[in-house]
Amino acid sequence: MPDAMVDARASHATSNANALEVDVAVVGAGFAGLYLLHRLRKAGFTVVALEEADDVGGTWYWNRYPGARCDIQTIDYSYTFDPELERAWQWSEKYATQPEILRYFGFVADRYDLRRDIRFHTKVTAANWDQASERWRLTTDHGAAVSCRYYIMATGCLSAPKPPEIDGVKDFTGEVYFTGRWPHQPVNLAGKRVAVIGTGSSGIQSIPLIAEQAAQLTVFQRTPNFALPAHNGASPTDRMALLEGDRAGYREQARWSLTGVPWPQQLAVSWQLSDAERRERFEKAWAAGDLVYILTQLWADQGVDVDGNARVAELFREKIRAIVKDPETAAALTPHDHPFGAKRPCLDTNYYATYNRPNVTLVNLRQEPIKQITASSIKTDKRTVDVDVIVFATGFDAMTGAIMAVHPITGRGGKSLSEVWANGPQSYLGLTVAGFPNLFMITGPGSPSVLSNMAVSIEQHVDWVVDRLIALREKGFTTIEATETAQAGWARHMADCSMLTLHRLANTWYTGANVPGKAQGVMPYTGGVGPYRSICNEIVSGGMLGFKLSGQNVAEQCNDGEVVRLQPDVRLVLNMLEEMKLPPIESFGAQGARDFVAQFNASRPAGRPVGEVVDGTLPGPDAALPYRLYRPATPGPHPIVVYFHGGGWVLGDEQSDDPFCRDMCRRTGMIVVSVGYRHAPEHRFPTAAEDGFAAARWIAEHAGELGGQGGPVLVAGWSAGANIAAVTCQLARDRGGPEIAGQLLVCPVTDCTFDRPSYNENAAGYFLTRSLMYWFWDIYCSPADRTDPRASPLRGKLKGLPPAFVVTCEFDPLRDEGIAYAEALAAAGVPVEQLNARGHFHSSFTMVDVVITGVSGRVQMAEALRRFAGLPPGSRQDNEDVRRGRTAPRHEIDAAAK
Ligand code: NAP
Repeated sequence: MPDAMVDARASHATSNANALEVDVAVVGAGFAGLYLLHRLRKAGFTVVALEEADDVGGTWYWNRYPGARCDIQTIDYSYTFDPELERAWQWSEKYATQPEILRYFGFVADRYDLRRDIRFHTKVTAANWDQASERWRLTTDHGAAVSCRYYIMATGCLSAPKPPEIDGVKDFTGEVYFTGRWPHQPVNLAGKRVAVIGTGSSGIQSIPLIAEQAAQLTVFQRTPNFALPAHNGASPTDRMALLEGDRAGYREQARWSLTGVPWPQQLAVSWQLSDAERRERFEKAWAAGDLVYILTQLWADQGVDVDGNARVAELFREKIRAIVKDPETAAALTPHDHPFGAKRPCLDTNYYATYNRPNVTLVNLRQEPIKQITASSIKTDKRTVDVDVIVFATGFDAMTGAIMAVHPITGRGGKSLSEVWANGPQSYLGLTVAGFPNLFMITGPGSPSVLSNMAVSIEQHVDWVVDRLIALREKGFTTIEATETAQAGWARHMADCSMLTLHRLANTWYTGANVPGKAQGVMPYTGGVGPYRSICNEIVSGGMLGFKLSGQNVAEQCNDGEVVRLQPDVRLVLNMLEEMKLPPIESFGAQGARDFVAQFNASRPAGRPVGEVVDGTLPGPDAALPYRLYRPATPGPHPIVVYFHGGGWVLGDEQSDDPFCRDMCRRTGMIVVSVGYRHAPEHRFPTAAEDGFAAARWIAEHAGELGGQGGPVLVAGWSAGANIAAVTCQLARDRGGPEIAGQLLVCPVTDCTFDRPSYNENAAGYFLTRSLMYWFWDIYCSPADRTDPRASPLRGKLKGLPPAFVVTCEFDPLRDEGIAYAEALAAAGVPVEQLNARGHFHSSFTMVDVVITGVSGRVQMAEALRRFAGLPPGSRQDNEDVRRGRTAPRHEIDAAAK
C-alpha cells in the first residue's frame, strides 16, 4: 500500500525497474520529515519520504509509554510556518500527551496531503553516493530502491534506542518493554511486580503511572536526575496572552532567542541577589513548572558558572528532601554529580512523591550495581528482586545513532560515515559533512537541536536547506558539499562554545557518555538558537561560505573559509557594539571619551565580592595619586599586585578595571592595588610611566600598612596599563627597586610603530581600532619621545627583568607587539610564558562575566601570578578550568564530575 501511494503521486518522480528517481529523498516522517515534505513539494521538487513506522509522528509514534508527554509547553512545540495551521489546531493542555501530539501530526499530514509521498514500513538499508551520476542510491528493505539528487536525514536525535548492556537480559522469561518502543496495544501491569531500569525523562514520566498500576514497583537508578513538577493543566494564561497578543512577534522572538522559547535574557547574577531573592525566584520557577523557565530565568550565571549553578542545585535538593519521606531514599534521589541543566533535567508529575508509596522501592545502583538478569529476577550486589515485568527506560544512542548506526552511508570516494565519525561526529553546522555531497541532516550533531525547542530548530533547518536547494537549482548547481576547512573551523567553534556552558561537566547522552565505547564530547551546539541562526544566514549572505558548489553547465564555486573565528561571546559583544552604531571614540574628544567609557562601564555586570575594597591615595612623584585596594577574604598578610588600568594613557581610572581586579584578587588570593596614574593630554609622557613607577615603589615600601606581605611586589596591567607595568619593571631594575617578583602584561602596548600585521588585520571592527591607537599615541606622546623605552619598552634593555606572563589576543591591533615583547624578553634570558588567546579581542579578559570564554585565560594569569609570588597552585576548580581551557573539549569528557 505505501508503495502504491508513492507511485500514485501526481508529481514528476519517475521510476524504472530498478529505482524510484526523485529530486530529494527524506528519511523519517516525524516533525522534521513532514515539514520537509511540505516545503520541498511546494518548491516543485519531486520527493519521497521513507519511514520505518506505519504512520507519521516519528518519536511520538514510538514513545507510547505511560505518561509520555511533551516537556516544552505545547504552544511552543508546534509548527509555526503556517498561521492558518496555528489557528486550526488548539492544544488541550499545557503539556500535551503523546496521543494528542500524534493526532496533531496526523492532522498536519492530512491537511497538506503528505501521506501520498511517504513510503511507510520502509527502512533504508544503505545509502551510497554515486559520483558519476551525482546522485544518492538508496536501498531499502521494502519496495524499490531510490535514486535521489539530495538525501536528507530527518531521523530525529533520540530515535535509536540503546541496548541495555546488562548481562542476562535474554534469559528473562517475563514481559520486557522499552519505553522507546512501547507496544501499541494496552499493557496491563495491574497486580504485577514491575522493574523500571532508568530514571531519565522517560523513566521519570512513566514511574508514577506504573506505580499506580503495579503490585510492586522497583526502580533501578544509576544516576539521579533533577526533576521539576510540570503542574500540568490548561496553558498558562500569561503565555497564551503573549502568544495571542502578537503571534508573529512571539514566534519571531522564539527564533532569535537562545533556547527557541521567547524568554528574556536574565541580567542579574546570583551574587548580586540576596538569599531571600534567590529563593523567591526559585519558588516562582518551581511553581511555574516550566523547564525552559527554570533553566534560563533564575539568574544570568546559572548555566555558565559553577557557583551560580550550585545555588540552583542546592535549592532543588532541598525540595527533594522535603518531598521524599525516607531520608535514605531522598539522599539516593538527590543529584550531586552534575550541574543542574548539564544533564537534561526532567519534567514530572508526582515523581518524587511516588517514592512515599508503600509499593515502590528504589535501588541505588551506585551502591549496588546490577550483576545479572535471570529468568525471573534482577540481581544486584546486595539483593535479588523477583519481577514479572521489566521496563527498560535506558535511553538512546543519541544524535548520531539514527544517522550513523541505522544504515551504512558511503560518500565520495567510498568513504563511510561511520569511519569519518569514528572519533565523534564531524559536521559543518550540524547540517552537512565534508566528503558527503548533497547529504543534509536536520538538527544533526553540531546544531542547537536537543538544547533547544526542537520545533524552532527543525523549522530553521528545513527552511535553510530547502531555500538552498532552490537557490542551487536557480543557478544550475547540482552538488553542494562542505569544505574541510569550514568543517574544521566549525569543530573549533563548537569547542569554543562548549566552554560557555556547563554541559561539558556531566557524563550524559549530550556527550555520548551513555553509550559504552562511543566517542565523547559535547555534541549539540551550545552557542544558542539565535546566534546559530545568524551564522547560518551569514553563510548565505557571504556567498555560501565554506561550501563547494558544482554543476555541469556552471563554473565550480568554492568560497572556502571558516564562518566564525571569534570566540562566541566575543562575537556577541562585537555584534552588540555594532548594533549600537557608536561614533568612533576618538571623535568625542578626551573628556567626552572619558564620560563615554564611564557610562559604558556602569552598564557592565558588577564585579564579584572580595574580602574588602578600600580607596586611598598615595604620594606620586609630584601629586597625590588615588588607588583602590582589593583584599581577599582569606586571612593575610597577602602578596601585593600593583595594577595599572587600560585606556590609552587618556581614559579610565583606578576603578575602571574593577571587575578584572576583583577577579584577580579572588583567583590569586592576593591584594590588588589599582593605581590612578595621571592622564594625557593634561599630563603627557612621561607622567603616566613615572606615576606608575613611583606608585609601585611606594606600595612596596608600605606593604605592611596596606595589610600586605613585605618583600617583592608583582605588577600587572592591561593595554596602556600593561605598558606602564612593563616600564615599571625596567625602571625598578635600573633605579634600585622596588623588587618585583613578576609581571603580568595583558595585551600590552610595547612599541610605537604601527607596521606589524596585526595593526592592519585588526585595524577596524574589534573595538580598539588602529585610528583610536593613533589618537592615544598622539595625545600621550610626541613622535620624538616615542622611542624612549618609557614609552616603547620593547626598545629598552630587557636583560634582568622579572619573569613575565604575556597575554595577547588574536583580534587585537596590539597582538604582534605583545608577541614581539614576549619573544624579546625570552631572547634576553627572562623567563616568559605566553598566552596567545585565539578568537579573543583586546577587551576579552577585562570583560569579566561577559566574555565567559576568557575564564581559562584569567585562571592562567592568576596561576602565573601565584607562581611568581612563590605560592602553590590555586584551587582545584581553577586548575580544572585551566586544564579544560588548554585542551580541546571536543570529544574529551570531563572527569571532574566523577
Ligand atoms: P535517558 O535520559 O538517557 O535516561 C536513561 C536512563 O537509563 C538513565 O537514568 C541512565 O542512567 C539509565 N541507564 C542507561 N543504561 C543503563 C544501564 N545499563 N543500567 C542502568 N541504568 C541505565 O533516556 P530517556 O529517559 O529516554 O530520555 C532521553 C531524552 O529524550 C531526554 O533527555 C529528553 O531529551 C527526551 N525525552 C523527552 C521527553 C519529553 O519531551 N517529554 C520524554 C522522554 C524523553 P545514567 O544517567 O547513569 O546513564
